[in-house]
Amino acid sequence: TLPVVPVAPSTEGTEHARPGGQSGLDARQVSAWFGEHRVLEDVSLTMRAGEVTALIGPSGCGKSTFLRILNRMHELVPSASMAGEVLLDGHDLYDARRRLTDARAAVGMVFQKPNPFPTMSIYDNVLSGRKLTGQRLSRDAKDDLVEECLTKAGLWTEVVHRLRDTGGALSGGQQQRLCIARSLAVRPKVLLMDEPCSALDPTSTNRIEQTIRDLVHEVTIVIVTHNMQQAQRVSDRCAFFLAEDKRPGGIVEEGPTDRVFGAPVDPRTADYVEGRF
Ligand code: ADP
Ligand code: MG
Repeated sequence: TLPVVPVAPSTEGTEHARPGGQSGLDARQVSAWFGEHRVLEDVSLTMRAGEVTALIGPSGCGKSTFLRILNRMHELVPSASMAGEVLLDGHDLYDARRRLTDARAAVGMVFQKPNPFPTMSIYDNVLSGRKLTGQRLSRDAKDDLVEECLTKAGLWTEVVHRLRDTGGALSGGQQQRLCIARSLAVRPKVLLMDEPCSALDPTSTNRIEQTIRDLVHEVTIVIVTHNMQQAQRVSDRCAFFLAEDKRPGGIVEEGPTDRVFGAPVDPRTADYVEGRF
């Protein structure tokens, strides 16, 4: 069997966190541009292992850009540039000696619109990210990995008898859970989720939220959501992003989710979480 991703301990005691050392993702004074247009300014945020961090804020304030910087997808856009640092378990994600594929393998991403390979089998979809690892698996190891990842994504019992069906034959919610399974198969340290439930019905959303809470014990999770109830249900900490008056986006306030929602310090946070803009 394959080794399980070690659970890195977290620094602060919140309800779901583990006590102890320091690990997770650390963004330090991150700025981002598209051409001359600066879209993020000096964003610093610690996303602790063992916790779900939610990024909230209005459209266009740079949440997706920030997420893409966390797994080096931002640099794929020709006009894009960034400044600042991203540390993963204390190591620079942008270290020139670090291969891009290593960074991508360590930090997985799930998007708003489920995007399994539609004509590829469910089984092969789960394994499709493994080429990032450059590691070959035996047939038995593949079978085990597919079962393990589909189980963790909450999809196994629904697809166990149809693993050769195509990804495109699944419902939207099942496709999203397949995408989560595909990400897990690479054994990432961090899973980034950009509005993963925005295209899904309430039942599928519930399933994904449960999956997120189950997974956080082995993978650090950062989720962008516009759903304030969802942020409160799934996240331990929350960061409120805002871009005012054509200014670049930044974090207005961050902290334990209960505190950010229950006793926001900044009046703009209060206005946002209470639905006033
Ligand atoms: P959010 O996810 O919070 O809605 P985004 O990160 O998508 O915000 O966008 C932040 C800003 O960056 C917006 O002004 C958006 O228009 C701009 N932007 C996003 N992607 C690109 C791109 N590929 N090229 C140019 N500008 C972009
Ligand atoms: Mg976005």
